Amino acid sequence: MSEVLRTTGLKRSFTQGDAVIHVLRGVDLHVGSGEIVALLGPSGSGKSTLLQAVGLLEGGFEGSIRIQGQEAARLDNDGRTKLRRDALGFVYQFHHLLPDFSAIENVELPQLIHGATPVEAIARSRILLEALGLAHRLDHRPSKLSGGEQQRVAVARALANRPALVLADEPTGNLDEATADIVLAEFLRLVRGEGSAALVATHNERLAAKMDRVVRLHDGVLE
Ligand code: ADP
Ligand code: MG
Repeated sequence: MSEVLRTTGLKRSFTQGDAVIHVLRGVDLHVGSGEIVALLGPSGSGKSTLLQAVGLLEGGFEGSIRIQGQEAARLDNDGRTKLRRDALGFVYQFHHLLPDFSAIENVELPQLIHGATPVEAIARSRILLEALGLAHRLDHRPSKLSGGEQQRVAVARALANRPALVLADEPTGNLDEATADIVLAEFLRLVRGEGSAALVATHNERLAAKMDRVVRLHDGVLE
């Protein structure tokens, strides 16, 4: 299996007043192509910090992050932005959809930014949203959608540019248990169908067990 992600000795500390908190103390993590990995750990264990590092959204890290074989530290800002746009998709606990755009427009936009034609972007957005059961919600704004529907749109948006790796931070953490189960199952089915890999942060053992492999973050390292 080829590798989409490898971190080696990844470290991140924060200073709070006089104290230094070592959140990541040397994380070695790999995700294979098409593999869905659960990142399990209690609240405050550093899951979001790790996903932010891998998402190339923040500096301040020590160690190595390789995405599709490219060492992030060797890239300049433009190179990191390009790698993020080409290779990564993001889903968060809260949907972060643009409120003034419809569901389908929210999925089209990243594709247009990435160079797709409007016709291509509409066609792919429809396929993704219909696969998530949202054929009747394409023109609704986020505020007119239920929480589960909002997260489904966020999932479609994350997959819009065919990322090699989806980073999902508690993607169903804001939903009731029954809805969370359904949306997670749909997310996993779509990610598998698309052949993407995913790294999914969760504090929920039961949800983690539905993924291909589970890694546990404890005291700043993977157990
Ligand atoms: P999780 O996502 O597993 O709940 P986080 O990655 O959000 O954990 O946080 C891990 C630890 O890092 C927490 O103790 C948190 O307070 C601390 N932390 C995260 N981000 C910052 C920051 N920007 N400044 C200071 N401390 C932070
Ligand atoms: Mg978190």
